[in-house]
Amino acid sequence: MKNQQPSDLPLRRSWFYVSLLRVIRPVAAARMSNHLPLWNALVGHVILASIAFVACITSVALLGPDYQHQGLSTIQKLLKPWFELWNEIERRPQNAIGVGLFLGFIELAFVVTALCVVACGARDEPLRRSFAHAFRQTWLHTINIAVFAILCACFINMTESVRHEFNRRIESKMAPYPQPPKNVAPGSPEQKAYNKAVGKWYQQRSKLVSQTAPILYRYNDEACVAMCITAGFLALATLFAAAGANRPTDPIERDPNCECCGYNLTGLTTDGACPECGQSIIESVGENIRLGPPWERAAKIGHIRAWFQTARISIFDPSGLGKSLKTQQMTNAHQSFFGWTMSANFAFTALVLSVFMLIVENERMSQNDWEFILFGVPLISFVISLAQFVFLQLATLNIGFRYSWRNKKNLLGATSRATSYCSAYLIVWTILVSLTGILAYLIYLKGILATIFGFYGTDTFVAAGWGITILILLLIQQILITRAVQAAQYANT
Ligand SMILES: [Zn+2]
Repeated sequence: MKNQQPSDLPLRRSWFYVSLLRVIRPVAAARMSNHLPLWNALVGHVILASIAFVACITSVALLGPDYQHQGLSTIQKLLKPWFELWNEIERRPQNAIGVGLFLGFIELAFVVTALCVVACGARDEPLRRSFAHAFRQTWLHTINIAVFAILCACFINMTESVRHEFNRRIESKMAPYPQPPKNVAPGSPEQKAYNKAVGKWYQQRSKLVSQTAPILYRYNDEACVAMCITAGFLALATLFAAAGANRPTDPIERDPNCECCGYNLTGLTTDGACPECGQSIIESVGENIRLGPPWERAAKIGHIRAWFQTARISIFDPSGLGKSLKTQQMTNAHQSFFGWTMSANFAFTALVLSVFMLIVENERMSQNDWEFILFGVPLISFVISLAQFVFLQLATLNIGFRYSWRNKKNLLGATSRATSYCSAYLIVWTILVSLTGILAYLIYLKGILATIFGFYGTDTFVAAGWGITILILLLIQQILITRAVQAAQYANT
């Protein structure tokens, strides 16, 4: 029985059309491209990545500050960076290795991303098909990443130009940069006078800058970072939505088994008990089993209540969570749970970091500190959330792959569901990590260890202790997911 959507067939070979559609409607485009041959997606990926690379270099040539005041024509500007790159490689051939490593690193990032996507897009199908699906969708996603990369490159080069233009204007109004004295010994009075003049020049410049700089000059780095983070987040979120979109698969017929121990129940009546473990058979094949965690009934009991109930089960009773999960019939309710939890965790991390900053600075907040809270804190929180996200996805792949292998059935999708619901633990993780962090800070501040044990290097000691705590707390996350998958592995539905 082939179960294809009508839109699958006419477009299955046209990666170009599907790619363009993907920028506007990633999920719809992903559904259309589910049967695109893998090599086709790879060729599209290489072509689009090359176009993006050329476009980024072009944005350096046309918008960046480097070639603006050399009286070059547009064609010369366009060609110059390529000649410079070529000269650089000719001058030192090992630079080619650097370029190769850079491109290899980008390809590696694509492979890691595809591995992160495998579980969320997996269905009840042979494992290799889930891997193929993940790589296909990630390679096809190149168009979205390319669009975001080009936008970021243009923005960065434009703001760089604004900065350079402003520096030129400021410096034209100032006394010329002091000339270094010739043939003087270091430490001589001439050298000292020169150093002083340079210091004064920079002081005058920074004073002029702080008085007249446009907003894009002052917050140049922050604006670029914010833009890149937003683009990175959108590229990743749309990829996961596309790869995780509902996808029909051919159903696989299996014998009914005991959901507790996996014993094959063929030929037994429903009123008996499992010969292996003694659990009544009706609990494995009855009607009302595996109804899903409370979140999947959120419409009835309210979203906030459903979230807290699901969070409680996933942290304190992961086996109970696993027993409620269907592993073969897929819905996507867990995606919204995961999205809300990760957003809440991001906001909570930012809040904790800001409060910590206020405590450490102890009401002596300078303008720089406030700017750090506005720009630095969201950046750090984003990096932490991204690291947690990658950790969760790779843990899912690891646990899901092991249980799939053992049971000879694809449990990656089920593991992805378990992980999504277990993500509520991340908020507990943030609370515990910040509490132990404050404790470590206090110990460091008071020098308690040094007073008791009387040795140096206490700060390294405290930092290492805190690092180990963080790792142990992450291991608990792995254990929660494993227990949920253990309880779900023999599911009949
Ligand atoms: Zn049994």
